[in-house]
Amino acid sequence: MKDSIEIRNEGMRIGGEVVFTDDVVEVLYPYTDEVVGTVPAGKAEHAARAFEIAANYKSKLTRYERSEILKRAGELIGERRDYLAKWLTLELGICHQHAIYETKRAQDVYQFAAAQAMNDDGEIFSCDLTHNGKDRKIFTLREPVKAISAITPFNHPLNMVSHKIAPSIATNNCMVCKPTELTPLTCIALADILYEAGLPPEMFQVVTGRPEDIGDEMITNEHIDIITFTGGVPVGKIIASKGVYKRQALELGGNDPLIVLNDLSDADLDKAATIAVAGATGNSGQRCTAIKRILVQESVADAFVPKVLAKAKAIKFGDPQDPETELGCVIHAQAAEVFENRVLDAEKQGAEILYHPGRQGALLPPIVVDHVPHDSELVMEETFGPIVPIVRVPDDDAEVMRISNGTQFGLSSGVCTNDLNRAIAFINGLDVGTCNIWEQPGYRIETSPFGGIKDSGNAVKEGVTEAMKFFTNVKTYSLPWP
Ligand code: NAD
Repeated sequence: MKDSIEIRNEGMRIGGEVVFTDDVVEVLYPYTDEVVGTVPAGKAEHAARAFEIAANYKSKLTRYERSEILKRAGELIGERRDYLAKWLTLELGICHQHAIYETKRAQDVYQFAAAQAMNDDGEIFSCDLTHNGKDRKIFTLREPVKAISAITPFNHPLNMVSHKIAPSIATNNCMVCKPTELTPLTCIALADILYEAGLPPEMFQVVTGRPEDIGDEMITNEHIDIITFTGGVPVGKIIASKGVYKRQALELGGNDPLIVLNDLSDADLDKAATIAVAGATGNSGQRCTAIKRILVQESVADAFVPKVLAKAKAIKFGDPQDPETELGCVIHAQAAEVFENRVLDAEKQGAEILYHPGRQGALLPPIVVDHVPHDSELVMEETFGPIVPIVRVPDDDAEVMRISNGTQFGLSSGVCTNDLNRAIAFINGLDVGTCNIWEQPGYRIETSPFGGIKDSGNAVKEGVTEAMKFFTNVKTYSLPWP
């Protein structure tokens, strides 16, 4: 490690108390495999206690107070940017530049939630509109639920938790979060920031531990009305089957294409190559919406591929803590090895590796591989690393759409074309939750609706606005209106 780091031995945050256990889970810095922190190996009873506290707490915070807390939390994230980014790098292994980017996204989440908290979300229906109308009005209001369970993945330790807790605060809910055992430290730092911003500790509690010890309680506890889960498809399906009758938001894996069509000039192909490489390598390729397949039409592929190669070669990868580094590690060496092996398997099926300067443990370079068969494991499965796989596809748009739609996933997509009719055809034809023309699949603002279909999710959208609706029950009431 560059500077010597004081190891963080953190406790859970339950009902305003810091709770430790004898058994702990170690958190490793992927670049060196050193232990940088520990969190308690919590058990079902810890989660149960947190849900009991959450369910028995009825927040009286006004909209104004909630908005002020959210605003202050966003400011504190900005003030603590360097500290948060340092720990994002240490527990996740992404480079400092990517870590800084994540802190800014998280700040946006709180800004949007602070603004949304100030909007009355009720509706009014006049009853004199109908054949049998009456002098009445029907109104709606939104109420918080008993308790929300949040289970979060390793790849965005700050932003993913923020996307759950900010709308929860904005709607006066109480949430218990179990961050991943791989990168739990940032979530705990975030909890402390929220308390400092004025949040009652009952409204956000953090439990930690191994999924086999604490996972079931996070799904089945009697007080849970809503489960909001972000993570991989297999765990999402376990939650879907165990969390019976609880409202579930399942935000799962992706395998997003960037589709490059054949109407592009040389300058446009350069622009598309920039999007392709940035989208495949951002956050070390560990975004659910990272570009996992570059589908380029045959007649422009020979012009496009060298541009991709040059841009990938220019990426400075290495020591994640070096501020000049543009690509750090993936989560651990085992994951890096799996992804590298998929590249080697694709090569056996006819793909051509154009750039592979060597893997060191979890430090996986931006491997560029051309002529990837569209049905190889490398691009059919979610390869959660900074691989840049190019699939050459026919000049027939219908066939491109068929190939693009041919995986189990349906999260997001990007299309590069200057032809409006073709752009619209792809927006209509791709089986995905999002289609961005001339942008990375991952492009969004933090309040726009976001979420996938097929195995990428149950089509419940996140984004601050949609999450606030999902986290509330609509109550309808009516009054005489003479
Ligand atoms: P994961 O599914 O392995 O783990 C996610 C969370 O589930 C962790 O907190 C883990 O401890 C917990 N968990 C594991 N087994 C459990 C069980 N049996 N019961 C209860 N909880 C359990 O996912 P990951 O590897 O941490 O994250 C990467 C995945 O997340 C990728 O597939 C990525 O695409 C996906 N992701 C999706 C989105 C989205 O919005 N769609 C966003 C970010 C990440």
